[in-house]
Amino acid sequence: MSRLLHLGIAGAGPAGAVLARELADAGHRVSLFEERSHVAGNCHTERDAHTGVLVHVYGPHIFHTPHERVWRYVTRFARFRPYEHRVKAIARDRVYVLPVNLHTINQFFGTTHSPAQARAFVAARVRRGDRPPATFEEQALAFVGPELYAAFFEGYTRKQWGVDPGELPASILKRLPLRFNYDDRYFSHPFQGIPEEGYTALVERILDHPNIEVRLGTKVTPEGLDAFDHAFWTGPIDACFDHRLGRLPYRTLDFETEVHGGDFQGCAVMNYCDAEVPFTRISEHKHFAPWEAHEETLVYREFSRDCGAGDIPYYPLRLAREKALLARYVALAGERKGISFLGRLGTYRYLDMDATILESLEAAGRCLESWPRGESIPVFFRSPLD
Ligand code: UDP
Repeated sequence: MSRLLHLGIAGAGPAGAVLARELADAGHRVSLFEERSHVAGNCHTERDAHTGVLVHVYGPHIFHTPHERVWRYVTRFARFRPYEHRVKAIARDRVYVLPVNLHTINQFFGTTHSPAQARAFVAARVRRGDRPPATFEEQALAFVGPELYAAFFEGYTRKQWGVDPGELPASILKRLPLRFNYDDRYFSHPFQGIPEEGYTALVERILDHPNIEVRLGTKVTPEGLDAFDHAFWTGPIDACFDHRLGRLPYRTLDFETEVHGGDFQGCAVMNYCDAEVPFTRISEHKHFAPWEAHEETLVYREFSRDCGAGDIPYYPLRLAREKALLARYVALAGERKGISFLGRLGTYRYLDMDATILESLEAAGRCLESWPRGESIPVFFRSPLD
């Protein structure tokens, strides 16, 4: 049996919490520092005192994963209710279903195509260059063609990211499927759901362990982490170095909240794809918990903008210039001994909850194998530059 360690973790989002639990289960002691007054990071949910609705405080989070290991893990700590996300979109004064599927295509073009006809119809419209699409725009034109791109992706993406879709990486669009049938589920993964009591209750259960000490409202510095046998940083990587090379840019979100009687929009998420509408989407939170009944309803109108120094970072903007700056922070991190970086902010990647959890499980496994052998722990478990 190897020596039992005292480990420090900055950040109590999914990345930090899962790592803490795995290390604590193996007998190590963990001190977890969280700047905010709650755990769960941007997945945080809380019940609205007035309406009783469970609110996704930092915007909609739907759990979906292809990984049975991750699903088994999260369902160990919380009861998940079946929830399949379906999104509607308003474009040019009409309502459509997203992601683009046979219904969207037939609605949009006023056709009655069969799957095979729609496939041929879209294939005749798409524009493919002689090399694989590199940007969001190229990917969209090669994927759905110019009309659907202009209606559903161009305006929304400009609003969401604040840059021309021709500058964004193709990977952002690859998150969304294109279907030639009437399956209108937003995600195709076999495991989907929402924790009955929300994500904060889930993360609290993960952290409920005698070897884990959680310090909320506590900002830890990298120097403060030097006291531990090893430390993990799940906050923004540039913050670990006092932003000394400049700030890695993120998009942040603002929400305008409204309470209405009854049912506001009839679904959980309505996207607003036109560039002239200043917000990107409206979330109606009670529809994320269809097993609950509430007379009133709470909606969030979501606005995206550049993240300033005091704002909450949401989406990393990984353009060429930002990746060059990231590479310089990665080099600094490589020189900084005793700290490993994890999670969406720690590695500056657009990671979903399930991928974050899987990486923390794998990172913990790697640590637990390495320590008894006296091997050092990698600074990154997955390269932030991929
Ligand atoms: N997107 C779009 N129109 C939509 C929905 C999404 O153009 O109606 C693009 C947009 O660039 C967005 C990306 O697809 O950032 C990924 O969408 P997703 O719904 O996965 O974003 P998230 O829920 O993570 O904000």
